[in-house]
Amino acid sequence: MVRSPVGQNPAGPAARVAVLGRGLVPPGDPVLRGDDLGVLHGDGLFETMHLRDGKPWLRDEHLARLATAATAVELALPPVAALVDLLDEVRTGWPAPVEGALRLVCTRGPEAGGPPTVYATLSEVPAATRAARRDGIAVATLPLGLPAAARTGLDWLPAGVKSTSYAVNSAARRWARRSGVDDVLWTSSDGYALEGPTANVVWLTDGVLCTVPAATTGILAGTTAAWLLAHATELGLSADERMATPAGLHAADGVWFTSSLRGAAEIHTLDGVRRNPCPRTPALHSLLGFPVG
Ligand code: PLP
Repeated sequence: MVRSPVGQNPAGPAARVAVLGRGLVPPGDPVLRGDDLGVLHGDGLFETMHLRDGKPWLRDEHLARLATAATAVELALPPVAALVDLLDEVRTGWPAPVEGALRLVCTRGPEAGGPPTVYATLSEVPAATRAARRDGIAVATLPLGLPAAARTGLDWLPAGVKSTSYAVNSAARRWARRSGVDDVLWTSSDGYALEGPTANVVWLTDGVLCTVPAATTGILAGTTAAWLLAHATELGLSADERMATPAGLHAADGVWFTSSLRGAAEIHTLDGVRRNPCPRTPALHSLLGFPVG
């Protein structure tokens, strides 16, 4: 049996765990069998949502992405209503002023067969995540070793799936720590910026807010970047999906990493080159509705 995460901050609300069919369980209780394929093979899907004012922001977009991924990896998800109930169970009574990290995990279940294992966890958004949003981040490019279009050209490979197999993503983030930067931006072997291990890259150039097309590169289609670009006109900007090289990003008026918990973290340093702070960053934060401070 694998015990559920504890991760409690003595000053904040205790982390919570709810399991489909069982409801809220003590955070130290087992939620997975030892032979769960999520553990043995990283065979599962997950979503991370930002809990604000006690509610998961962009919940339906996250559930839609999960459903698309489940079809792609042939994982039988419970009905959406059951997932919504599970999210409601884990968040009920969470203090509204505290930003939460709400995770929904669906694994393929026991090795010998059986229903998927489905549970939700809720904990405080880590201070480091809020600091990245407030202070910005230093990012280094890191080769992924593939041409930009390589993955979408393979019809057996489900691209852009938020899988629990995050070994490559974790390795990249360890490389970032060893290299003294906050995060990395993967680049393709044909010289394009792709995404970070837990974020999309968004940049501003000549009044156009841009991100990398997921459909042609196989990166994860980010809910945060999609929402931001869909609302760009509220900032007097237009939006586009484009490919960019690191040189193109150096020349951009602003560059951010977007993700569900960080919101938009401005890249203040790219490959050791300090960038001028983008005057649009506060407006991006307030459009996205993330507190900064
Ligand atoms: N790309 C990858 C690889 C991710 O893991 C994530 C989020 O964890 C993102 C992009 C950003 O997606 P979202 O904005 O939906 O959190």
